[in-house]
Amino acid sequence: MASRRTGGQGGQGTGDERRDRAHNTEVPGQEGESGERAAEHQLTYVIYRNGARMPVQAWAESATLAKSAVAYNAGTLNRCRELGVRFMEVFDGSGCGWTSHSDIDKANGTIRTVKEAAAWPISHPRCMRAFGPRPDLTSPA
Ligand SMILES: [Zn+2]
Repeated sequence: MASRRTGGQGGQGTGDERRDRAHNTEVPGQEGESGERAAEHQLTYVIYRNGARMPVQAWAESATLAKSAVAYNAGTLNRCRELGVRFMEVFDGSGCGWTSHSDIDKANGTIRTVKEAAAWPISHPRCMRAFGPRPDLTSPA
């Protein structure tokens, strides 16, 4: 019995360390889980473990914009094409070119066909590009 008590005392220190380690790994695990769920099931809202809800669009435009930009823009363009929209307004970084960041054909604020937009959903890694439908336009400006 006496030897078991000694072992128990030694184990208390180890137990504290384990608790600290488990606590530290919780936060990144939560974020990754929420992201995967939204990508797989196309939810309208991302729901965090604390109950907070965030619209998928806002979520995609913030933390994971670079990672999901191509898929997100492709989804926007597909919906617009289905609705008969032919032209898109481009929102991008002020210096960003259409086919590469250094392209002299600047993208931001320009009007492109849905087909052109689908060919260049972004022009470089971490590109901020997004598209807004312009159903009011039936021919290029
Ligand atoms: Zn860009």
